Amino acid sequence: MKIKRQKQAKKSITFYKYNFRFREPFLILLDGTFCQAALKNKIQLKEQMPKYLMGDVQLCTTNCVLKELETLGNQLYGAKIILQRFQVRRCSHFKNPVPASECLLSMLEDTNPQHYFVATQDPTVTDGLKKIPGVPLLYIVLNTIVLDKPSQASLDHVRAVQLGELVTPAQQQSIRSLKEEQGIGRKDGERRGKKRKRKQSNPNPLSCLKKKKKKGLPTPPLRKAEPGERRKSRHKRRKKGDNMAAAAVINT
Ligand SMILES: [Zn+2]
Repeated sequence: MKIKRQKQAKKSITFYKYNFRFREPFLILLDGTFCQAALKNKIQLKEQMPKYLMGDVQLCTTNCVLKELETLGNQLYGAKIILQRFQVRRCSHFKNPVPASECLLSMLEDTNPQHYFVATQDPTVTDGLKKIPGVPLLYIVLNTIVLDKPSQASLDHVRAVQLGELVTPAQQQSIRSLKEEQGIGRKDGERRGKKRKRKQSNPNPLSCLKKKKKKGLPTPPLRKAEPGERRKSRHKRRKKGDNMAAAAVINT
């Protein structure tokens, strides 16, 4: 189970790296619900998160999340203590704090430009972030951290980009250059391109040339034109005849 979970996580992380430019250290935006679940399940976030995501992470939260935990009282005191140790990211509600769910969704804007992972158990946040392409969702199930598979919005976005529907040519170039830096993405493209070209262009002219040469050389008129070959052929006939005569002598 652990290996399967890790493999699925790796696959998803690769997806976000290539398609949404996620880079280490991964920014993990956490809320009180996630920290409370981690506390209940005795998950050490600072240790487990980088292991599970196979890279450096920066655990962070917002002022609104902390403020909300204060108002919720003693039940979430432990979660508050955990969250207070993390980096506090600036949100747009400095003067007038909003509910944590509202704040987290506002941090993602329309396209998650800061490349946040969001770690939450709050369904209002998860429902909202699944509509935004390129937002990895982390939650806790059965004592373990789980990275959710890319949402339909993310998959649709990637398809649209691949079809050239969403990005300008300049953006496409920057994506290509990023894939060059990473190596793997471009190599795949090159391999595919070369294979197709070889299949289409090379075989046809080569095969045509060989066929013409083969057909041209063994044609009978050329041999007949050379006098030497005639003699050779006569000799062969004579030899054959001699052999036949010899064989007849042996037999008798
Ligand atoms: Zn806020």
